[in-house]
Amino acid sequence: MPIATINPATGETLKTFDAHTAAQIDEAIARAYDRWRGYRSTTFAERAGWMRAAADLLEAEKDDIARTMTTEMGKTLAAAQAEALKCAKGMRFYADHAEEFLADEPADASAVGAKQAYGHYQPLGVVLAVMPWNFPLWQVIRFAAPALMAGNVGLLKHASNVPQTAVYLEDLFKRAGFPSGCFQTLLISSGQVEQVLRDHRVAAATLTGSEPAGRSVAAIAGDEIKKTVLELGGSDAYVVMPSADLEKAATVAVTARVQNNGQSCIAAKRFIVHADAYDEFSRLFVEKMKALKVGDPTQSDTDVGPLATEQGRNDVEELVDEAVKQGAQVLCGGARPEGAGWFYPPTVITAITPDMRIYLEEVFGPVASLYKVASIDEAISVANATSFGLGSNAWTTDPAEQKRFVEELEAGAVFVNGMTTSYPELPFGGIKRSGYGRELSAHGIREFCNLKSVWVG
Ligand code: NAP
Repeated sequence: MPIATINPATGETLKTFDAHTAAQIDEAIARAYDRWRGYRSTTFAERAGWMRAAADLLEAEKDDIARTMTTEMGKTLAAAQAEALKCAKGMRFYADHAEEFLADEPADASAVGAKQAYGHYQPLGVVLAVMPWNFPLWQVIRFAAPALMAGNVGLLKHASNVPQTAVYLEDLFKRAGFPSGCFQTLLISSGQVEQVLRDHRVAAATLTGSEPAGRSVAAIAGDEIKKTVLELGGSDAYVVMPSADLEKAATVAVTARVQNNGQSCIAAKRFIVHADAYDEFSRLFVEKMKALKVGDPTQSDTDVGPLATEQGRNDVEELVDEAVKQGAQVLCGGARPEGAGWFYPPTVITAITPDMRIYLEEVFGPVASLYKVASIDEAISVANATSFGLGSNAWTTDPAEQKRFVEELEAGAVFVNGMTTSYPELPFGGIKRSGYGRELSAHGIREFCNLKSVWVG
C-alpha cells in the first residue's frame, strides 16, 4: 500500500509520502528509548498538564483535523468533528485518573511475613502502536493517552491511507509540551513493522486492525516474548426480542450499522430478530436504511460517505454478490452506484445460510445481515455462531432475558437497549478472534505496566 492521502469520495491521490528508511526507524527508536529513561520519572501532575494542553489544542483545531480525516478516509465531517471531541474527553479522563488507577495496591503484609507488601505499577518503556484508519484519531488516542500518562513513550505506525492525520498526532503532542521523542509517528509500511518489533529497545506492542495483521504482529512479538494487546475484527450480533420498543430498536439499528460509513469494529453487523417481532422490525429497519442519504461526506445532510479504500468497497461487494448468487435476498441496496468514489449503499440482506461467506466473515461496510429466529435459545446460538466476540447488543425489556444475554453472549461487551459504543470509563476489548487485552478504563492503562510485587521485611 502506498503511504498516501487518496480521497475516497473522488479516488484522487492528493499527497504521497516516502516511507522512512531502516536508518530513520532506528534513529526514532533510539530517540524514544533515550527519552523514556527521563520521561518515566516525570510526575503524574506534569504529564497531566501536557495531556490537558493536548486536549485543549485538539478541541480548538477540531474543524481542521476533521477535514483532514474526511479527506483521507471518507467519514462525514460531523462524525470526524465528534471524534476529535471524544478524543479530548478521553485525554482529560486519563489526565484526571491515571494517578489513582496506578496507585500502589496494598497486600496483606502479615500474611506474607513482611512489614510492607504491595503491588507497584511501573511503565514498560517504548510501546509500538499499529493502528487502523477507521477512527484515525480515536484509535490512537485511546492507546496514547493512557500509555503516556503511565510514563511509557509511543511509536505510531498508522494505516498507510491516513498519513496526514498520523503526522498531525505527533505534532499535537509536541506542541502540547510533551518532551520531544515521547510520541513519534513512523511513516512505514506494514512490512517494516517487524524491524520495530524485534528491536530490543521496544518493550511491547498494541495493534488494532484485522485478524491477519494481528496474527502477524502477535507471532513476531511472541517470538520476542513481548507483551501485546490486540483489538481485531468483529461481526457483532444485534438481537431484537418481542418486548423491545421496535421503533427505537430499528432507529438505533440503522446508526449501529452505518456509523462511520459501516466501517466500525463494534458496529452491529448481524441482526437477529425473534419471529414475533420480525415483520415489524424488518419493515421499519429497511424503510430507515432506504431513507439514508449517501454522498459527499463534507456535506452536512450526508448520512453515509464512501468506503475508505477501493479494496474495501470491492470486498463488501464481493461478499454480497456471492451470497446473492447462493440464494440470499436483498431487501434494499446491494449494488454499487455509478460514478467516481468508493460508495456503497446501505444494504439489508436476508435468507443467509451457514454455507455463505457472509455468514462467517466480517462485512466492513454498510451491509446488514438479517436473521429470523424462533426463540431466545436460537437467538443466542446464532449470535454466538461466529469466530469473533467483540460488542454484542440485545433489545428486550424482560429482566430474565436481559440476564441471559448478559451471561450467554460470547463477547467483550454486551449493551442492552442501547447502541454498543466505547467510553473512556468502560473497559473495551474482545474475546475469541476479536483479540485480547483491554483498552480504556483503569484496565487499559495497566496493560503496558509492570505490576511489581514489593515485599519489605
Ligand atoms: P488492517 O489492514 O489490519 O490494518 C490495520 C493496521 O495494521 C494498519 O496500520 C496496517 O498498515 C497494519 N498492518 C496490516 N497488515 C499488517 C501486518 N501483516 N503486519 C503489521 N502491520 C500490518 O485493518 P484495516 O483494514 O485498516 O481495518 C479494518 C479492520 O480493523 C477490521 O477488521 C476492523 O474490525 C478492525 N478494527 C478493530 C477495532 C477494535 O477495536 N477491535 C477497531 C477498529 C478496527 P497498512 O495500512 O500499511 O497496511
